[in-house]
Amino acid sequence: MRRSFKFLLRPTARQAGSLAACLEDHRQLYNAALEHRRTAYRMAGVSVRYGDQSAELTYIRAADAGGQGRWSFCSQQATLRRLDKAFAAFFRRVKTGQRAGFPRFKGRGWFDTVTWPRDGDGCRWDSQPQHSSAVFVRLQGVGHVRVHRHRPVHGVVKTISAKREGRRWFVVLSCDEVPADPLPATGAAAGIDLGVASLATTSDGEHLANPRHLAASAERLARAQRDLARKKRGSQRRRKAVAKVAALHARVRRQRLDGAHKAALGLVRAYDVIVHEDLRIANMTRSASGTVEEPGRNVAQKRGLNRSILDAGWGVFLTILAHKAESAGRELIVVNPAGTSRTCSHCGHCAKANRVTQAAFACTACGHTAHADVNAAVNILRAGLALRQAAEAA
Ligand SMILES: [Zn+2]
Repeated sequence: MRRSFKFLLRPTARQAGSLAACLEDHRQLYNAALEHRRTAYRMAGVSVRYGDQSAELTYIRAADAGGQGRWSFCSQQATLRRLDKAFAAFFRRVKTGQRAGFPRFKGRGWFDTVTWPRDGDGCRWDSQPQHSSAVFVRLQGVGHVRVHRHRPVHGVVKTISAKREGRRWFVVLSCDEVPADPLPATGAAAGIDLGVASLATTSDGEHLANPRHLAASAERLARAQRDLARKKRGSQRRRKAVAKVAALHARVRRQRLDGAHKAALGLVRAYDVIVHEDLRIANMTRSASGTVEEPGRNVAQKRGLNRSILDAGWGVFLTILAHKAESAGRELIVVNPAGTSRTCSHCGHCAKANRVTQAAFACTACGHTAHADVNAAVNILRAGLALRQAAEAA
């Protein structure tokens, strides 16, 4: 199986400068290639393809030896391929009649990753293995950069990326053939309900909370963004505000990842089978003003950036959960969440009135009361087990 590993880089001041230059040159390459495609199409109706642009790289590098020529040919190709993907997605959206945003120019701060698609080609993981006390990654044009490798790497390193988050740099390794690491069976199954107050609630009544500081950081980020919106373009103050927003974004991301890892690990250790709702369907029925079933509740609390920050956490959490479940040999079942929040898990009575508040569930038919999220999680578990049984019978 494929897995990625992310480590903090500890570049020297000179290396940090080179990393920034590398990123900036790749950004400009991306923008130039986008401009090239746009004008060719506008002036001559010609579609420029990845192959054409990749062929031109040779000339660009030769003409700018001290600039673009410094970096790895492969990482530049990867950047052109990234643009190609953006165009492919654009045309796909046009074709299916969705709202199609044309690929955009990347401003400073909107281009934060350079990828080397093959270990050993313009980059090398663990480039100084003879060094006993530290681990290094060699990046063409930057040098051997020290890595804070806080856990071992498994599998075969395929691609290497350098990523900027706020003022810090990370290396991301994508590895193939990472051996699975099965956990002993527990004989237990659980449904989980994704929420805002807690990240997820299990059918056993456990609330998996978001990390303690996440809400505070999200709040601070929202404030910093409002602050940024008031600053004049091009001013020193604005530049400072941008840096602050970027740093807070990175912090929120780290805290969320951390919480998601812990929550997912706990679930995978405790249960053989885990059922969760299909997020694509769930997102369609959840609106900013509560749920479609209960519009208007907790509007202020849920609306806006704060809410969107917490929302984004579900996707990250489920992705991590899927990886951990696969690695541990656990079964993950995805169900349609329709009706799970207003159906009584005791008698099956389904009514809007069952949901007393955001947190309280009280069945109007049988009188069963429960935490609303636990009730939903039990329904999700039941739906998942039914699906599984149907699949086994078929
Ligand atoms: Zn009931």
